[in-house]
Amino acid sequence: MLIVKKFGGTSVADKERIYNVARRCIEDYNKGNDVVVVLSAMGKYTDELIAMAQDINEKPPKREMDMLLSIGEQMSVALMGMAMNKLKIPAVSLNAFQVSMHTTSTHGNARLKRIDTERIRRELENRRIVIVTGFQGVNKYDDYTTLGRGGSDTTAVALAAALHADACEIYTDVDGIYTADPRKVKHARKLKEITYDEMLDLATLGAGVLHNRSVEMAKKYGVPLVVRSSLNNSEGTVVKEEVSVERMLISGVALDTDAVRIAVIGLKDVPGMAFRLFDILARRNINVDMILQSIGRSGTKDISFTVNQSDLDEAVAALEDSRARLGYKELHSERNIAKLSIVGAGMMSNPGVAAKMFESLYNENVNINMIATSEIRVTVIIQEKDGVRAMNAVHDAFDLSD
Ligand code: ADP
Ligand code: ASP
Ligand code: MG
Repeated sequence: MLIVKKFGGTSVADKERIYNVARRCIEDYNKGNDVVVVLSAMGKYTDELIAMAQDINEKPPKREMDMLLSIGEQMSVALMGMAMNKLKIPAVSLNAFQVSMHTTSTHGNARLKRIDTERIRRELENRRIVIVTGFQGVNKYDDYTTLGRGGSDTTAVALAAALHADACEIYTDVDGIYTADPRKVKHARKLKEITYDEMLDLATLGAGVLHNRSVEMAKKYGVPLVVRSSLNNSEGTVVKEEVSVERMLISGVALDTDAVRIAVIGLKDVPGMAFRLFDILARRNINVDMILQSIGRSGTKDISFTVNQSDLDEAVAALEDSRARLGYKELHSERNIAKLSIVGAGMMSNPGVAAKMFESLYNENVNINMIATSEIRVTVIIQEKDGVRAMNAVHDAFDLSD
């Protein structure tokens, strides 16, 4: 069997944990399997690197930022190689350059395009454990790129797909995927299985347990994923196309506090305004999420939308630059919001799910700012201070605990 095993930051945070991971990998290796290990930077090292960069320059060039961040993963794979060597197991660490992990050119948020597997295959044939840096890639200019925060999961899934691995295991600091973040929701329950589609929505809507692109890629290439703990042997959660257990009404609740809301007030109520507005943002690669347009009154209308916090400054600057062209009256931004979502394939055939969510928010006296829905999710924008309380209330209302 060829197994890809990915370990996140907390799982390799110190010497003891590095050895713990090394031993878990060696166990599989000693059974005769080919083992490819993908690692994140140790503990909060990526955050520390970001803080160091900010201290030197509050707006660091994105290229230099990726150059810096790529150190984190390189450090963990080298140390893991040393730990395995100490345990007398042949292993080799490789970074994105050495493997050749090709990405798009956007720094900070690159997409993996192609992974050369030749070097990895050669090392596996020589019966080595191959330890690969997560999160990083190389673009067509031969510069380092990174895949966005949490991107090591995507490296692991992409490697599993490229190598046609038999298993892709994501080891983290909780023992699986829960109905909500177990660190925030008291009655969160571990799921045995979840579909790609549901997990993709949960991940996109703030459940940081998996990078959303990793789920997207797993679905595209049919890579079965297992999410489990690096610290114990409990079973974990399988992410796959179809689940065998009976569908619950909803499978999870997610909270995202990274979103910010921008309101463009007093746009002319004529065709083409939404196009102009969002085209300005699209040209700058800024992802827009929820959009709300008011009913036009006295010849003007307002458009509000959410973007990721990290894009706020650029979005506001772009809209201010285009003020004359767009002809709006005011521009507001609001940072203290949270996006609360429920996700579940079961809601397709069950009316009243959204109403139930709204009722539980009403009971908690939580005000709803914006609403968006799809076949399998309902999202509301609320005040950030209400976030965790609202998430617990909604989770309890759907009776997701045991
Ligand atoms: P890693 O460093 O291993 O990649 P992450 O911090 O990226 O770990 O992801 C694991 C964290 O995701 C957990 O500690 C948990 O707080 C959070 N989380 C958010 N939503 C969920 C969920 N639905 N199920 C499990 N964990 C979740
Ligand atoms: N080290 C990176 C981060 O902290 C990538 C990852 O952990 O997946 O975002
Ligand atoms: Mg992660």
